[in-house]
Amino acid sequence: MSNIVVNNYGSFPVEFSRGQGATLFSSEGKEYIDFVSGIGVNCLGHNHPALVNAITQQAARQIHISNYYHSDVGVVYAKELIAATGMERVYFGNSGAEANEAAIKLARKYGSLSENKNRKVIVTLEKSFHGRTLATLKATGQEKFHTESFAPYPEGFRYIKAGDYSAIENIFDDTVCAFMLECVQGEGGVNLIDKDWAIAAVNAARKAGAIVICDEVQTGMARTGKLLASTELGIEPEVITLAKGIAGGIPMGACLFKGKATDVFVAGDHQSTFAGNPLACSAARVVLTELTSPGFMERVSASGNKIRSEIESWNLSCVKEIRGKGLMIGVDIVQSAASVQKLCLESGLCISTAGTNTLRFLPPLVISDEEIEKGLSVLRLILESIN
Ligand code: PLP
Repeated sequence: MSNIVVNNYGSFPVEFSRGQGATLFSSEGKEYIDFVSGIGVNCLGHNHPALVNAITQQAARQIHISNYYHSDVGVVYAKELIAATGMERVYFGNSGAEANEAAIKLARKYGSLSENKNRKVIVTLEKSFHGRTLATLKATGQEKFHTESFAPYPEGFRYIKAGDYSAIENIFDDTVCAFMLECVQGEGGVNLIDKDWAIAAVNAARKAGAIVICDEVQTGMARTGKLLASTELGIEPEVITLAKGIAGGIPMGACLFKGKATDVFVAGDHQSTFAGNPLACSAARVVLTELTSPGFMERVSASGNKIRSEIESWNLSCVKEIRGKGLMIGVDIVQSAASVQKLCLESGLCISTAGTNTLRFLPPLVISDEEIEKGLSVLRLILESIN
């Protein structure tokens, strides 16, 4: 495998052949608890009956038609997503980076339509992550992603430290077209953004004439226990980007617009061949129905609380901090997170990392208490052994 597929990922030497709920099975039949869910994607877990049924039925009807035409399921889903999010328009894409590219392009066009034609700068947060295309890499507020090997990068990005009130005064001027933020920074270490600071920064951005973009690629679709994390942060962005869990594992992204952003894009401004195809929309419809069903999001919050309080109760000195919202959790440990991740995998637990010392939990939103307990018992043994 490593000889024929570009070795970009440094994948672990495990091959999975099927999954059920939050449990994965290797080709050799070994069982693993899944605290990764394909990096926050399989929100309904593996082999969810309604999702499998919808995809199967849709595949028999039509998989793809291109955006030369509308699809019945695409039209219905667009209406449902708009109604659920309170936004006004949607552009469908295929991934998080593409959704953010759409948002960046829209912000630049919005800037070019304003009085100051130099209104092209996008302010993002330090420690943010927005994707792996050239523009989204440069939007990412982490120097390690701006490596020389891929230069030159698109210009026009400025970074602000979340929580720094004094920086707000200077950064937003009439050259800024957008302020783009993740409501909880995932890849950057599962960092919660202070609500008061976020509101102050958003107000300053708006006062300077900029629009606000929330990158909810990871936080969106109930990951934090709310359909959108921006709602809880008290922000009403003009643009929201979604991907990851939106279609439960079928590649899909979305860029939602409202207010000043609603009518910026016109025909020809931004397009994609696969975007919003009927198969993806059929899966996304099931995901949205499930996430908004009674009690679903309360359950996400309860599962997240259970994981956090359980780890806290172990009282281990190697655990430095536990952070998170809903089922997006980061646990800082003294030791290397990558080495713990490897030990966990050997013992039947898939877990992710963020940076050097943070273990990252992104389990399926439907994970059962029993699966949580099984996964945590593996983690506990390993942390105790290195404590
Ligand atoms: N934005 C955020 C907040 C993300 O967490 C990610 C992926 O981890 C992306 C954008 C990029 O998404 P994708 O990998 O689907 O391009």
